[in-house]
Amino acid sequence: MPNGFTGTILRVNLTTSAIEKQQFDEQFYRMYMGGGAFGTYFLLKETAAETDALAEENVLTVAPGVTTGAAVSGVSRCCVTALSPATGAVGDSQTGGSIGPMIKRAGYDAIVVAGKSRTPAYLLVDGSDVKIKDASHLKGRSVLDVHDALMQELGGGKLSVLQCGPAGENLVRFACLVADLNDVAGRTGMGAVFGSKNLRAIVVKGGNKISFADPIGLKKLGRLAAERLPDSGFPTTLSKYGTPGVVGFQAEAGNLATHNYSRSFHEGYKELDGVAFEPAIGAGHTTCFGCVVGCRRKVKVEKPYKVTDRLGGPEFETLGLLGSNLDITDPAAVAKANELCNNYGIDTITMGGLAAYLFECAEKGLIAPEGTDGKSLGFGDPEALFWLIERVAGRQGIGDILADGFESAVKKFGPATAAYAIHVKNNGLAVHMAQVKPSQALMYAACPIGPDHMSSEHDWLLASDSEACKGLGIFTGADQSAIRTAADSFGPDKVRMTVYSQYFYSLLDTLSLCMFCWGPGNLFNYSELTDLLGATTGWECTLWELMKVGERRVNMMRQLNAKRGFTREHDCLPARLGKALPDGPAKGKHVDTKAFAKMLDQYYDLMGWDSKTGNPTAAKLLELGLEWTI
Ligand code: SF4
Repeated sequence: MPNGFTGTILRVNLTTSAIEKQQFDEQFYRMYMGGGAFGTYFLLKETAAETDALAEENVLTVAPGVTTGAAVSGVSRCCVTALSPATGAVGDSQTGGSIGPMIKRAGYDAIVVAGKSRTPAYLLVDGSDVKIKDASHLKGRSVLDVHDALMQELGGGKLSVLQCGPAGENLVRFACLVADLNDVAGRTGMGAVFGSKNLRAIVVKGGNKISFADPIGLKKLGRLAAERLPDSGFPTTLSKYGTPGVVGFQAEAGNLATHNYSRSFHEGYKELDGVAFEPAIGAGHTTCFGCVVGCRRKVKVEKPYKVTDRLGGPEFETLGLLGSNLDITDPAAVAKANELCNNYGIDTITMGGLAAYLFECAEKGLIAPEGTDGKSLGFGDPEALFWLIERVAGRQGIGDILADGFESAVKKFGPATAAYAIHVKNNGLAVHMAQVKPSQALMYAACPIGPDHMSSEHDWLLASDSEACKGLGIFTGADQSAIRTAADSFGPDKVRMTVYSQYFYSLLDTLSLCMFCWGPGNLFNYSELTDLLGATTGWECTLWELMKVGERRVNMMRQLNAKRGFTREHDCLPARLGKALPDGPAKGKHVDTKAFAKMLDQYYDLMGWDSKTGNPTAAKLLELGLEWTI
């Protein structure tokens, strides 16, 4: 077994209580490498086309990467993969913190959970000692409460807790997982998969040393990040303000979802900008294992809402979806809504999108007061949002409808409300506006996990004409007008950039690397990525080989979806994105239906997928060594 890996995958079946340790050969590790690729591999091998995401047959994988545990910035994230209760397609979400390194130090390259416990349970992984423990006393309790209870029960010290909240227990389809209170695997409903298995938490203690091929080489990479951080653009901003620090920049570019995506600019954006609110409510930061950036912001509020500094502060996406998109510009109110979501275990993005849908339907008189349990709901009302989050978490009244997502809400409230349900495959869109960033139109429509803003590089990379761009084999003109066109275009350059960077981002999620450090133009360059793999494993990987690893994961996910009945017709966008934005810096921009259809054709062609179905061809699967999936 090469360095970096432990050579063991922990398998737990909650139905039979079987606990096994599985071994694979080196070729398996070199082809799939870890993270989301491991999880998708197990789904392809072990689930059927008709397996329901909430059934005990769903298989959930928690997988760090081969580099996880090294003292280098951005190399220790962790991937959670299972069939998604939110979309019915493959689900995949990443978290930071220390859960990934702890799993490696416990001696595992991944933890795979199948089956369903008869009674509430949690999994305790203490090195080679693995136990399924009773969690009846934890049922219904908040994330914060359960974290503290487990810490006390297990004697505290160095352990890591990955848990769903009450929302996951209640099978809210977009429930998230929370790692050690501050880090969240937010998207695709992985918390509901925990809930469906009667699994409240995975607790990991690990004290083993991880062996790396070239510790001196890794030290060098670790130092480089620290040296570059003070003057590295995006990572520097993240270090000072976290992702809230980009609100101003994004708003001024007309890229901030506002009033349920009907606008892309909010006049009150300055209040939501982390640069402005950090002195008032900022309460320091945390960092993922070994990372010098430390982008995870904490906030603390006493009045008018009490917000603890223990559950992390709102990220950029949350400030948009629970803020500007609901016409709420008080950062303290967004911090409170964020705290509620984290404490119940709810994805803030889909929660915000559903609240915006409901607020707009109420505004337009499409939902009668009895439809909202008699509560008056509307934009700009934080109290209404707090109320709604609690109803969703507990599946009470209207919350029970929203807990199943947009499609069930439209079914309940009627087809006239469909225009205001801004989703793809039943999952909410991120805050980035596809009208302004056409690459995101593609990723919202065609990404295998549903609408996602972290699965490819955004359009402005193409406009920069930088070395980061060229390193991916993407070239643009250097004069300013060409640069502007490149950013806005729906043309082939944009499709190429999206395809190449999707492979690259998929590689990052396979290696469990952070895009804020390893994304194009951030702290490290491409040759340092191959250096990292060499220093970790001893393998002499080329960037070509690694890009194929990323491409392989995307194709595995897409092939899994194809088996589950997904086709091109599911790769569509909400109609609202086709309407011209009414005002702001991006006034007039829209996703042209014909241009988008052409873009999608080109995207499938470049991906090597069938343009009628949007699914991988046999030739593409063969090229990637995935003929076993056919
Ligand atoms: S940049 Fe932020 S999210 Fe990424 S590894 Fe560092 S602390 Fe974690």
